[in-house]
Amino acid sequence: MSAATFDLFKLPDDYEELRAAVRAVAENKIAPYARTSMNSRGSRSKPMTRCGRRTSTPHTSAKSTAALERTPWPPASSSKRSPAPARPPDEGFSFGEPERKLGIKGSPTRELFFDNVRIGDDRRVGEVGDGLKIALRTLDHTRVTIGAQAVGIARGALDHALAYVKQRRQFGKAVAEFQGIQFMLADMAMTLAAARQMVYAAAAKSERADPDLSFFGATAKCYASDVAMRITTDSVQLLGGYGYVKDYPLERMMRDAKITQIYEGTNQVQRIVMARQLLKG
Ligand SMILES: Cc1cc2nc3c(=O)[nH]c(=O)nc-3n(C[C@H](O)[C@H](O)[C@H](O)COP(=O)(O)OP(=O)(O)OC[C@H]3O[C@@H](n4cnc5c(N)ncnc54)[C@H](O)[C@@H]3O)c2cc1C
Repeated sequence: MSAATFDLFKLPDDYEELRAAVRAVAENKIAPYARTSMNSRGSRSKPMTRCGRRTSTPHTSAKSTAALERTPWPPASSSKRSPAPARPPDEGFSFGEPERKLGIKGSPTRELFFDNVRIGDDRRVGEVGDGLKIALRTLDHTRVTIGAQAVGIARGALDHALAYVKQRRQFGKAVAEFQGIQFMLADMAMTLAAARQMVYAAAAKSERADPDLSFFGATAKCYASDVAMRITTDSVQLLGGYGYVKDYPLERMMRDAKITQIYEGTNQVQRIVMARQLLKG
């Protein structure tokens, strides 16, 4: 199986197929997995979940209280997308209302709740006590996919910006003819090329399960997402006022880029991972 992401609402209908998928995740044959954060356990701090994964974020507004309300199975919205898995979820499992987000609005995000859920031994995906190890090992691989997502967003933004500056005329010439604009474009393309190569290199290491994947996965994710944020922001700038309005896709790309600096571990955390690897050697 290749690297892929799970959509909570598009899980296989067949229970055995679903189990096989979960096992494949644990064996790193596919990238995503579900995780609960330690500090969300037992408390109702705000856990953020995307497609079956969870971590915690403190959040105390009235809105978040509303978001904590449970959704019965099957959730009303899921039935519109695809059938629920054949096996109903375990007792104690439920999830919250869809999160209202800055970007990636095409990807549903919900909290998952596991209240005293008991899982039989036959459904364990690894040895007892190995959960954190499996989670961290999986992250080494999945981070590369966030780097790839960032490269895609950045490339889309640069393509749009390039097309725009070639046709938009100001002061009697195409905006692309101004040297200040050309230097911006060159920097954008140069950093994008570097990010792409880093993601390719990390992807190859992921496929081979190289021992230095932790370092290179973190560098690829961190660099590519920082580049995506910079390129999308610069692309909005290159379109002037049109960059800021929804008639063009640049403002959306800028909002979408932001999450790549945050999830799968923030870029501060990526730097911690890199430093640990450096100091280990
Ligand atoms: C839309 C969305 C989808 C998500 N999808 C998933 C998902 O699929 N799977 C999943 O597991 N998680 C997912 N998350 C959660 C995401 O991975 C976390 O939000 C992220 O890892 C940051 O954790 P936090 O929110 O608890 O921030 P915090 O840990 O509270 O961090 C707050 C700030 O402090 C900084 N910080 C924290 N610790 C340190 C440190 N030691 N040194 C320096 N700075 C530090 C952080 O960089 C950040 O700037 C998703 C979140 C969102 C918003």
